[in-house]
Amino acid sequence: MTPGTSKTSLLDRYAAHAGTDAVEQLRQLAEPLRGLKVVHVNSTRKGGGVAEILESVVPLMQELGLDATWEVIEGNDAFFACTKSFHNALQGKALRIPEKLLKAYETVNADNAERLRPILEDAGVVFVHDPQPAPLLGYLPNRRGKWIWRCHIDVSHPYRPVWKYLRSFVMPYDASIFSLDAFVQPMPHPVFLIPPSIDPLREKNLPLAPERVSRVLDKFGIDPNRPLVVQVSRFDRFKDPLGVIQAYRLAKGFVPGLQLVLAGGTAADDPEGEMVLREVRGAANGDPDIHILSSGHHSERTINALQTAADIVLQKSLREGFGLTVTEAMWKGKPVIGGNTGGIRLQLLNHRTGFLVDTPEGAALRIRYLLSERDRIGQIGQNARELVRQNFLVTRHLREYLTLIVALTHGNEDRIELG
Ligand code: UDP
Repeated sequence: MTPGTSKTSLLDRYAAHAGTDAVEQLRQLAEPLRGLKVVHVNSTRKGGGVAEILESVVPLMQELGLDATWEVIEGNDAFFACTKSFHNALQGKALRIPEKLLKAYETVNADNAERLRPILEDAGVVFVHDPQPAPLLGYLPNRRGKWIWRCHIDVSHPYRPVWKYLRSFVMPYDASIFSLDAFVQPMPHPVFLIPPSIDPLREKNLPLAPERVSRVLDKFGIDPNRPLVVQVSRFDRFKDPLGVIQAYRLAKGFVPGLQLVLAGGTAADDPEGEMVLREVRGAANGDPDIHILSSGHHSERTINALQTAADIVLQKSLREGFGLTVTEAMWKGKPVIGGNTGGIRLQLLNHRTGFLVDTPEGAALRIRYLLSERDRIGQIGQNARELVRQNFLVTRHLREYLTLIVALTHGNEDRIELG
């Protein structure tokens, strides 16, 4: 295939899901940015939401004519121990990080700045993702372009001493991006809000053939002919798996034959996850219609099959960043019943694109309602999919990155022509 053909085909594939207008807008926005050197920097090529989004955004930027690349910083054990502690502290845990680890954090960044100097100094725009590579900028005083710190973490209630330390590296940036209003921290430069997104071309989100779905249901002993509610999440208290079991039990009184799937792993470094899982097993108390699928991180295809097979998807979180599982289920045309918190509120517009609930009783009521009014399942599912199409696909995410680039790189002009 010639490069020219592959170019059209990737954008066309997105157009088939996101709509031709969405892709046309991208083309227009990207036109004045053709050839611009854009570098994304993060700390891992595989695994995790940030790598996932870069896997989608970087090739799309390239297709649109930007000279986009993706660099990964190289760290050592002390560096990753330090950044893992940052992650916990930024999400509110009071942690004192030993001086030795902070030193490793800074040294690793200094070494990476040296290694990447030619690329980073020369770039027109640099996106630095999350805290791991944040200090790079400080080691590159001769940088030419605009630098943006992209925070994917919930920093709404950070442990202050750690945030203060990290903030000192972020202050000299030209702009920051946070995912949600609630996460924003004051900065001496412009702050932008860009919510996360899903990629309709990933295996997790593409339509799945019915026989593939059946195979997964068979594997886990789930009956395809009985109603099914599914929650996909890590076994974490904030995801409220015990509340989900309670809701299932309350609803089952009115919906005989109801089945529940709780699917997700526990993070390897999360001892509390194991404890939550034990409690969940205890609460399920051997009920053969509660399927606890806890064997580690499930594949994209398994998650897709479970979300596709569900009549209703639950995400009864007590606290949530954005809630990508909600987006994924909505994209599959499922009505979602979600906890009234964080980014779930942006996605579930009560009675239109899903339901927000505060208690297991509330969730049970909605399960019962939807399973007795099947046409509502279809309507809400359709609205849900449309909401995601317009707001939470990667094409929208990219459109906002491009708009931000235009704004920053033309910041001193009175007039900016967008295509
Ligand atoms: N996920 C997965 N396998 C699992 C459990 C979850 O691939 O076994 C995916 C899920 O589909 C979603 C992401 O992990 O894309 C979880 O993101 P979310 O924002 O819902 O929650 P977080 O775990 O970040 O709090």
